[in-house]
Amino acid sequence: MMGTLSAENVTFQYGKRTVVDDVSLRLSSGQVLGLVGPSGSGKTTLLWLLAGLLPPQRGRVVIECDGSSAVRPRLGMVFQQPGLWEHLDAQEHLELVLSSLHLARPERQRRIASALEEWKLQSLRRRLPRELSGGERQRLAIARATVLEPQWLLLDEPGSNLDVQAWEHLPQYIERARRRGAGIILSTHRSEEILGLADRLAVLIDGRLAQLGTSEEVYRRPVSLEAAVLLGPAAELSGLAQAGVLRGEEGTVLLENLDASLQGTVRLILRPEGLLFVPDDTGSWRLTSCQTRGAVRWLHLEAGRQTLHATGSAEVGAVGRLQCRP
Ligand code: ADP
Repeated sequence: MMGTLSAENVTFQYGKRTVVDDVSLRLSSGQVLGLVGPSGSGKTTLLWLLAGLLPPQRGRVVIECDGSSAVRPRLGMVFQQPGLWEHLDAQEHLELVLSSLHLARPERQRRIASALEEWKLQSLRRRLPRELSGGERQRLAIARATVLEPQWLLLDEPGSNLDVQAWEHLPQYIERARRRGAGIILSTHRSEEILGLADRLAVLIDGRLAQLGTSEEVYRRPVSLEAAVLLGPAAELSGLAQAGVLRGEEGTVLLENLDASLQGTVRLILRPEGLLFVPDDTGSWRLTSCQTRGAVRWLHLEAGRQTLHATGSAEVGAVGRLQCRP
């Protein structure tokens, strides 16, 4: 079954405070949409609106299936807090949600066994939520949503409470669900979680959709510094661009090897991997510290009040020039 899940100019307020502001987006079957934004930007509220758990004050959420909005959609949601039923054991959670689908017994049993297996809950299936660890509870919350084999799966910050094992399994599950035709939304305030998983990213800032594009577009051409830093370190440099050189106040050379088509006053958003520090006593930048992330070493540089991260090899205290990497 093919379908779309859309928000059309959706607005939601708590009292007088607008927390989701005129948001429009559309997800199709087989797509993964990442929802990124700082904490408090309205991601959870938007997911609740999309799931039909909150009514928007303006706009609407439309779920269409095979061109019709009449069929009740199968939607699974994993909340930030697992929200389990304290008096039901793990397997009973799965039985209860499946009872709404009126499946034949063998199919019901197949799905339960497969969800318990997938989320490593077989040996825990007779435990009550209070007898499970935090990570196990979150696994049960995911199993409860996925046992429905939902057409739409909404995951709210799945990385925050999940144990490493389950977190590493999630991409495989998502890939399979996507191939089965499910549409998936994953929210997070941490970018590393999402870049490789999502086809498209929606950036939410102060309740507004600041940018919507492929992960690559949003990473490489962020609309603002605020959007850029959600996906990894970034800095803004402004100045006068001329003949491939960016000059700051008083003519200081800030950056070389610029795209020669850039001319006049510009504001650039730069990622560390695009910048190379070249030690040179005539340069404007000073290397103040180094940071290692995995196999990558980033240099923290300062020039007057400007600071940023770049790549290169030099020792702390070195002075040098900064170039755009080809
Ligand atoms: P995010 O998921 O991006 O962290 P939320 O959707 O949880 O953001 O929250 C958006 C804003 O709405 C926040 O400022 C939060 O404090 C506020 N908020 C969330 N729930 C309520 C509530 N029940 N009553 C009033 N304000 C709320």
